[in-house]
Amino acid sequence: MSEVPWQATVLSLFPEVFPGPLGASLIGKALAKGLWTLETVDIRAFAGDKHRTVDDSPFGGGPGMVMRADVLARAIDSVAPVGPRFYMSPRGRSLDQGLARDLAAEPGVLLVCGRFEGVDERVLEARGLTEISIGDVVLAGGEVAAMALLEATVRLLPGVLGEPDSLSEESFAAGLLEYPQYTRPRVWEGREVPEVLLEGDHARVAAWRQSAAETLTRERRPDLWRRYRGRQE
Ligand code: SAH
Repeated sequence: MSEVPWQATVLSLFPEVFPGPLGASLIGKALAKGLWTLETVDIRAFAGDKHRTVDDSPFGGGPGMVMRADVLARAIDSVAPVGPRFYMSPRGRSLDQGLARDLAAEPGVLLVCGRFEGVDERVLEARGLTEISIGDVVLAGGEVAAMALLEATVRLLPGVLGEPDSLSEESFAAGLLEYPQYTRPRVWEGREVPEVLLEGDHARVAAWRQSAAETLTRERRPDLWRRYRGRQE
């Protein structure tokens, strides 16, 4: 293959959890095929003392422990990542499909996974780490968040999904949630599939799907709906 693979670099205190779900199915096959690469860095390997300490109590007091700036910086400086650098954090901008698309167009990303109460603020500034969240919820560590970001991004890389068409139809692609899907059996527990989907009239199917996607979006996500309507005008 002549293309340079998309390059993910992940720093974590638990590198052994990778690739985890990223090793399964199409994302995992793409990893095995070299469409993308995953380098994990064990932050603990960069501790400076014989107890391999990576955290300490917060200045000013308070509960929990904070990951040390010096240890994390050494871990970051040990790699040659490409593309933007992120710290997975509930304080960051929320991951969404637009960001995943932008990241798929980059050569790769560096992701720092926090643990405990998080990391010393100074390392974020000094190493230019942008905070990215997977939503308004607090996880125990950044690893699952990093996996979510990588999975959302890697599936958009050329050649990863079998049918690229499926990308243009799915939720958020046009600013709408996806229409309902059905497959065999045609009648299940007395429930029928909408008639229009069985008639083979592609234009009518498309119109039905468009209208179903609009109804779903209007009902469930007024925020997306307003933005969608704004774009149509
Ligand atoms: N004290 C922090 C939370 C720390 S949770 C606060 O109140 O903001 C421990 C680690 O989990 C964080 O360092 C971060 O890397 C990760 N994490 C937790 N919630 C996350 C989220 N919503 N998105 C991305 N990473 C998250």
